[in-house]
Amino acid sequence: MFITFEGIEGCGKSTQTEFLRDYLEGLGYSVLVTLEPGGSRLGVELRRMLLSLESDDLTREAELFLYLADRAQHVHQVIRPALEAGRIVISDRFTHSTLAYQGYGREMGVDALQEMNIMAVDGTVPDITFLLDLPPETGLRRALGRNMEKNLTSSEGRFEAEALEFHVRVRQGYLELASRKKEKIVVLDAQALPETVFQGVVGKVNEIMKI
Ligand code: C5P
Repeated sequence: MFITFEGIEGCGKSTQTEFLRDYLEGLGYSVLVTLEPGGSRLGVELRRMLLSLESDDLTREAELFLYLADRAQHVHQVIRPALEAGRIVISDRFTHSTLAYQGYGREMGVDALQEMNIMAVDGTVPDITFLLDLPPETGLRRALGRNMEKNLTSSEGRFEAEALEFHVRVRQGYLELASRKKEKIVVLDAQALPETVFQGVVGKVNEIMKI
């Protein structure tokens, strides 16, 4: 079983991921929680670059290929072996992030990126994806507060500082993807309390896992 969480910054992906891990482990399942970018050794290096380089030093094409390289290695080295071992894998971001951020946010078009995703994942696709939907203003406020708490410098917080219009396009892209049935995306209102959001997650997981 492969479950992914998607959404803009500050939407609560990591909280829901942890809630779901605790829930499934409580039922006796072996669970692997992972993330993109950064789920493999290569990914850790790529994440550091992606989050620290200024846009002058990283064209949108170069950025796209780094995200795809992260994914290819992540699937090959981490996700697929865990699935083959019968574990439940929960990933904080996966293919839909590329479509939403690079396809819609950076306006690179979705069709070509779909093909590249297919090449990167080599047949490993999520059984279900949760989109934690949030207005960008709210997400950015949450993310900025979190960075200030952690004392992150402005370059470490580069993504949160991106223009609001960019995040509006990302959110719109996610919602458009979710409207396509074959994508198997469940949209949850991330403005609700975390416990309420989790009820939506657990309801769907129970349904598809027949728990
Ligand atoms: O999930 P997390 O917030 O840690 O992601 C790190 C950053 O990478 C985010 O700020 C997001 O904006 C960015 N990102 C991106 N394109 C992707 C995936 C993530 O721009 N495909």
